[in-house]
Amino acid sequence: MPLEVLEEAASELTGWHGKGISVLEMSHRSADFQKIYEECTALLRELYAIPHTHEVMFLQGGGHLQFAMVPLNLAQSGIGNYAVNGVWSRKAFKEAEKISSAAECACAEFRAPAQRDIRLSENASYLYYCSNETVNGIQYPYIPEATVPLVADISSDFLSKPLPIERFGLLFAGAQKNFGPAGLTVAIARKDLLGHEAPRTPTMLSYETYAKSDSMYNTPPTFAIYLSLLVARWIKKEGGVSEMQRRSELKSSLLYDVIDASGGFYTNKVEKSSRSKMNVVFNLTDAALEPLMIEEAKKEDIVSIKGHRILGGMRASLYNAVSIEDAQALSDFMKEFARTHG
Ligand code: PMP
Repeated sequence: MPLEVLEEAASELTGWHGKGISVLEMSHRSADFQKIYEECTALLRELYAIPHTHEVMFLQGGGHLQFAMVPLNLAQSGIGNYAVNGVWSRKAFKEAEKISSAAECACAEFRAPAQRDIRLSENASYLYYCSNETVNGIQYPYIPEATVPLVADISSDFLSKPLPIERFGLLFAGAQKNFGPAGLTVAIARKDLLGHEAPRTPTMLSYETYAKSDSMYNTPPTFAIYLSLLVARWIKKEGGVSEMQRRSELKSSLLYDVIDASGGFYTNKVEKSSRSKMNVVFNLTDAALEPLMIEEAKKEDIVSIKGHRILGGMRASLYNAVSIEDAQALSDFMKEFARTHG
């Protein structure tokens, strides 16, 4: 989270806008909270230029619940088609297999599948992909074309670059990387795709429930929505999603340049065109040095560079709140570590 957002939230934690009530205490149906909710959705619409053909919904349950809601809501007419190229798209595919018919329509390792590799089943109901594989450090450099609705898990590159929302049937993201704290999930769906969920779908698992109630069928995560509003304002003030894109390209290249110039001290297996601008994954050829690197980084206040427990290795996440200076500090540290231990 951007520091100034945390400071602003702290300054009004006990009294919102000088009133004697905290956002933590407000009823979600109060006029004050309605203002917060409305500004948050309006800003999200503005930042992404979301057309009126699409609904913006606030949910809970994170990306994992979306892995179930997507097939429950969209697979009625056929087979959910999944492009699988990392931990999260595989997990979504496995979940869909439990719920409805699902097929793996493309498979790739260390890269995004190319458009020509994606072969839809004859009666595909949607094409699902994960735009940024957070654990594997793989990001699609393009948006797939499909004759069926396109569904994307954009959890880890949400609000990090402009997106042509009109090309998507459904997009979803957990807020906790680039938007707000954990506990809020955003879904953006084409309105005509709603209301076709499987029979006996629980009310809370139908997108239509959220669309019809302004995401207030039950109590939404009010404080998470408020914090996300502050982040959305911050993104707008900083120059919007195209500025976030410029920064993430710069930040990630600071790290990839060190990896590529390290003479094999650092390695990254991802095909260059699919390298993630959000999560820079790398290994040390001498893996025994990795714990030492983590320890030495800590002394420089550089934390969370240990890779995901599934893959090991190292990973630097460059979400929007990470500044160019932060990325520069890590880049300098990596250079120095390679010089002294190489
Ligand atoms: N999709 C992606 C791309 C993710 O990075 C994550 C979590 N890091 C998830 C889904 C799962 O999200 P959650 O923990 O919110 O269920």
